[in-house]
Amino acid sequence: MNMKAIQKICYGVYIISSKMNGKVNGQIANTAFQITSDPPTMAISINKQNLTHEYIASSGVFTVSILSKDAPMTLIGQFGFKSGRDIDKFKDIGHKTGATGAPIVTESTIGFLECEVLSMTDVGTHTIFIGKVIECDVLSDAEPMTYAYYHQVKGGKSPKTAPTYIKEEPQAQGTAPAPKYHCNVCGYIYDPEKGDPDGGIKPGTTFEELPDTWVCPICNAPKADFSKE
Ligand code: FE
Repeated sequence: MNMKAIQKICYGVYIISSKMNGKVNGQIANTAFQITSDPPTMAISINKQNLTHEYIASSGVFTVSILSKDAPMTLIGQFGFKSGRDIDKFKDIGHKTGATGAPIVTESTIGFLECEVLSMTDVGTHTIFIGKVIECDVLSDAEPMTYAYYHQVKGGKSPKTAPTYIKEEPQAQGTAPAPKYHCNVCGYIYDPEKGDPDGGIKPGTTFEELPDTWVCPICNAPKADFSKE
């Protein structure tokens, strides 16, 4: 099997959120898709280890906030590489409470859907939740972020709990451009050619030239937590 074929599937990037016992949590997911139009239903695939899984299974509701192409990596890092068991992910993030009582991210998003769970399918590491859409709206006409854009342009990674996680093979080195560095915490790769525009770092800035105050755009780890590729 050439598993590269599975990487040709197209996705968007979403924040899936839910609630439980007065608490809220959310996480990044690329696996959210419409199943039927009448009634409108959506499916999502969530790792059983994630706190959001527990919340959805318990409350029977989830929301899908659709990320804008311009969403900063810090927002994706907050929801994708941190656990709601350690932090309140919605603190300081623009959001509102939906009709389901689950939160909807209103910052760097272009629309949302709120769903009530109709059925759950156990698929080993993950559960597929199918939900009936009970409320939805468009928040902006900006372009949605695609998973390809997140990986190629934003330098984004998939956490090990993502359905689409792929173990990376070491790549052959070309002729000596400035070395890339990877974050030991989340796997983000700092590419001097791309810089970190969201963090105010121009393309062409080597890792050594980054200010000491610079932190990983995904997980906020300091420079000391980076290793040369
Ligand atoms: Fe990181």
